[in-house]
Amino acid sequence: MRILLVEDEENVSAFIQQGLTEEGFAVDAVGDGETALDFAQTYEYDLILLDVLLPKMDGRQVSRALRQRGIATPILMLTALDAVKDRVDGLDSGADDYLVKPFAYQELLARIRARTRAFDRTGNPDELAFADLSLNRLTRQVKRGEQSAELTSKEFALLEFFLLHPEQVLSRTQIGEHVWGYDFYNHSNIVDVYVGYLRRKLDDGHTAQLIRTVRGAGYKLSAEE
Ligand code: CA
Repeated sequence: MRILLVEDEENVSAFIQQGLTEEGFAVDAVGDGETALDFAQTYEYDLILLDVLLPKMDGRQVSRALRQRGIATPILMLTALDAVKDRVDGLDSGADDYLVKPFAYQELLARIRARTRAFDRTGNPDELAFADLSLNRLTRQVKRGEQSAELTSKEFALLEFFLLHPEQVLSRTQIGEHVWGYDFYNHSNIVDVYVGYLRRKLDDGHTAQLIRTVRGAGYKLSAEE
């Protein structure tokens, strides 16, 4: 999952970035409103964490400008301001949710999960499933059938991306940008390498291979024969 973090206070930005990276998110961090607008229009993000008080353009202006340009990426606003009017202004500018500083890191994670939820047949908003494969975003448990698999944070992020787009052909670039962000451009074969790791942990020993190669196009999570 790729997140754009817009925060001008370097220590706050570094703290959030480190925490999210450890969880397996790909994080691009920028420190002013204009750059944020530029990045959000250039790259595809799963979520934008947007501080309100920023140099050049404030968070509400950024949010409004993105919505006017038809960019619907979920926006979670971060702010030190906590008057009812500030909250209303933030939501009116097109933000989806609001978190008041200082916040507990666990709460930030919970809000991110809530905003990037995909409701599927499990009926559990923290669980993603496909065929006999399941992933719990809260406990971070992954299972194929009754068998648990131990995944690293990047393997987990890669599987989560597949589970959010079942039966869709995903190009290496699409996968790379969402799971690794910038790093991807320096390691062009990283997607193939990690798909290999996932297959070893999840497909090996099973008759149905769920992670398929689509020749010349990329990969697909598929249960079709
Ligand atoms: Ca600020």
